[in-house]
Amino acid sequence: MLLAAAPLFAVSQAVAAGLDVQDIRIGVHEGSTRFVVELSDEVEPRVFGLPDPFRVVIDLPEVNFTLAEERIGDGAGLIEKLRYGLYRPGTSRFVLDLTTPSKVSKQFLLKPDGGRPWRLVIDLVPTTRADFVAAMRPTAGTAPQVAAKPPPLAPRAPNPKPVVVIDAGHGGVDPGAIGVSGVYEKKIALDYARDIADRLEKTGRYKVVLTRNRDIFLPLRERVRIARAAGADLFLSLHANTHPKRATKGFSVYTLSNKASDKEAAALAALENKSDVIGGVDLDGYSDDVQNILIDFAQSKTNELSVRFARDVMIGEIGRDTRLLKRPWRSAGFAVLKAPDVPSVLVELGYISNPQEERLLVSRGHRAKLSGAIVRAVETYFRTTENASL
Ligand SMILES: [Zn+2]
Repeated sequence: MLLAAAPLFAVSQAVAAGLDVQDIRIGVHEGSTRFVVELSDEVEPRVFGLPDPFRVVIDLPEVNFTLAEERIGDGAGLIEKLRYGLYRPGTSRFVLDLTTPSKVSKQFLLKPDGGRPWRLVIDLVPTTRADFVAAMRPTAGTAPQVAAKPPPLAPRAPNPKPVVVIDAGHGGVDPGAIGVSGVYEKKIALDYARDIADRLEKTGRYKVVLTRNRDIFLPLRERVRIARAAGADLFLSLHANTHPKRATKGFSVYTLSNKASDKEAAALAALENKSDVIGGVDLDGYSDDVQNILIDFAQSKTNELSVRFARDVMIGEIGRDTRLLKRPWRSAGFAVLKAPDVPSVLVELGYISNPQEERLLVSRGHRAKLSGAIVRAVETYFRTTENASL
């Protein structure tokens, strides 16, 4: 039986009732941009803004997106890019990335008429930074939830079975990278996470925890918190990469370092760390946590184990029958790897900007092969590493 963090099992009333988002429209007018969401029922949205970069966030009860086609990445007028998806159980979210600070000038709900369903209409007009911050500030009811406190650093009782936490990158309102044929990184990450978790579980030798087991957004710090709360002995965060050069392909694995091993690793860490911005998290609420984590981050034993797993074990196992990126082990400041007491690696399964590798990554055969190799790497690590299970 796979374990997931408890809140992920919450069942939403809204979905049971079947609230659907049926269509999305963006209309560009002289001096304003209109955002329209067609819905199967009446809703009470919560709308607020976040600066740097400027975004408008629209929270709805949990909905099904029953659109004729995906609209993630679309934009027009004051809306540079649109994202949407499950933000947390019970809440679905739209994030509108803005081209310039813009505030809501009008917001209303139209009742069904003339064959059209309920319509939520939001008009945006450009404004100054100061006015945006004042007018669009989240009110008490709209403030993002701050994650529960992480457990303190303390010696733990040994785990009867090593605990492996598998983290599917991105999710919900954050699609991650988008492949050449339109595949979302969040989907590949979840498919591999489930497959790897199943295989590890079947050995009977590990306790396996998934940070998410559905298409939902999770802040990076929440992923770290889940790993620490589970008493993880190993944390694997799964991702798929993109590169401006289409020819680039291959598997790679990253560990945490405050000094990036190269420019590309630094750029990748910056990109992966953006997940919270894309999801619309207000990072201000986390600053103390981040401070603490950065202080403790010097825990060299944890880092030694992470490097041992990534460089000494994983690369060898995967490289047997899967193509590797040049210099397949690298390091940089990835926020999701910052649990001071959990050996952690971030896996980039391959490049979805490469048409051939994108096809491979979504194929069942390749997934079985790669997941199998990752499981072998985990087994080898625990078999050959002293004090791997803390
Ligand atoms: Zn990613």
